[in-house]
Amino acid sequence: ASGILAGKRGLIMGLANNRSIAWGIAAAARAQGAELAFTYQGDALRKRVEPLAKSVDGLVVGHCDVTDAASIDAVFAEIERQWGRLDFVVHAIAFSDKDELTGRYIETTEGNFTKSLLISCYSFTAVAQRAERLMKDGGSLLTLTYYGAEKWMPHYNVMGVAKAALEASVRYLAADLGPGNIRVNAISAGPIKTLAASGIGDFRYILKWNEYNSPLRRTVTIEEVGETAAFLVSDMARGITGEILHVDSGYHVVGMKNPEAPDL
Ligand code: NAD
Repeated sequence: ASGILAGKRGLIMGLANNRSIAWGIAAAARAQGAELAFTYQGDALRKRVEPLAKSVDGLVVGHCDVTDAASIDAVFAEIERQWGRLDFVVHAIAFSDKDELTGRYIETTEGNFTKSLLISCYSFTAVAQRAERLMKDGGSLLTLTYYGAEKWMPHYNVMGVAKAALEASVRYLAADLGPGNIRVNAISAGPIKTLAASGIGDFRYILKWNEYNSPLRRTVTIEEVGETAAFLVSDMARGITGEILHVDSGYHVVGMKNPEAPDL
């Protein structure tokens, strides 16, 4: 294979369907020569993940629900058995109870707070612990975040708090793993209509707002996030770690509504 990921082996976690950001990343990584392995969350998603994995000559290494540590251990044991090593991991996993992705953050329950932070933040650290052992010559870990970590966004609520913690964990993991030449980064993606995003209140409004007000005057695609991800996990990005890279049509630099934008 040729491409910037030729000879690299990567694990993709968080594929649900062909609209998933994980799919944009998998397709781009494959196009750049990577060999891929995939996990799925439960039997319902297995049926979706298997044909997608096959279409990029990927392995399916099993069920992984990040709330069940034994299932994380099992997929890393399977990777070790099949490949003996690993060059990169993509973590594209987040969850909050839909009922709390609307209205006021202050109403967040302790149960959903704990569950959201466990799935959307701690799981990246749990994955890093297992991946480190398989990255003896170095490697790269990548997660997905959103601007709602940095600024208040309507309806994002507990996910904003979880993403802020995730971004901080990128910096701490980068410092821990840097001496072993393992890089840790995040892509802060602009809004994209995926299964997870459909749980967020007024998502269509958020998409339109970004389209009208971002410097590029459009939203981003999973292909664009995917190609940036392929770069970040490749050796071309070997000097980059601890970074939160925005792939959002430049929305994060804007301080005020575009006066030419139509009313929403
Ligand atoms: P998606 O629904 O396609 O993917 C979310 C994935 O999370 C699914 O594959 C699901 O199985 C997995 N997941 C949830 N709970 C899990 C658990 N307990 N164990 C294992 N896996 C679990 O949606 P997406 O938008 O592609 O989301 C991928 C990542 O991108 C998420 O971290 C999300 O927050 C982030 N992100 C999305 C957007 C957006 O607008 N879509 C913007 C910025 C960041």
